[in-house]
Amino acid sequence: MARYTDANCKLCRREGEKLFLKGARCFSEKCAVERRKYAPGQHGQNMRRKISAYGVQLREKQKIRRTYGLLEKQFHNYYVKADKKLGITGENLLQMLETRLDNMVYRLGFAPSRKSARQLVRHRHILINGKIVDIPSYSVKPNEIIKVKEKSKNLELVHDALKEVGRGEDLGWIRLNKAALEGELLEIPKRSEIPLTANEQLVVELYSK
Ligand code: SF4
Repeated sequence: MARYTDANCKLCRREGEKLFLKGARCFSEKCAVERRKYAPGQHGQNMRRKISAYGVQLREKQKIRRTYGLLEKQFHNYYVKADKKLGITGENLLQMLETRLDNMVYRLGFAPSRKSARQLVRHRHILINGKIVDIPSYSVKPNEIIKVKEKSKNLELVHDALKEVGRGEDLGWIRLNKAALEGELLEIPKRSEIPLTANEQLVVELYSK
């Protein structure tokens, strides 16, 4: 029987769209957003509240934060750093989130979800320029080589993930060598090159109040 009550899926249903938190299931007909197009909870089906401007900003922030699987404090710290950098704060924010090591491992297709990618990193399966890095928030720089450790190359999770999606192949700012289980960040992506349907400007408006 299909399961609808998973905590991750509830996050998607709350935001009213797919946040791709569960790998292959997200692309299947079992996706809870596809099957239940209303918010979770007892009153989810009857919710017709008018949402305030603040509410819209808050939902957008939650959507982005949950997509990358960060706690509020971590997410806010990224915003503070993004705001201090030159350039557009919202774009800076997304660039920092995208170049986190766990996100890169996910984008390269070595893991089915960002959560699994984080586990791979924490469990010391990932090398950067030949050295183990077990910090999911590690900020990957252009030209650094991300590789699955030799001893971990037979991990079923990695091969299944690559078979299912192979995301890195679609992104011009990532080089993926599937056979060698390695990849590279070629350059920091521009906002238009980041496949995320979100309005990061609303996050900037929310936090800069
Ligand atoms: Fe669940 Fe994935 Fe669908 Fe979200 S996108 S509801 S995590 S299956």
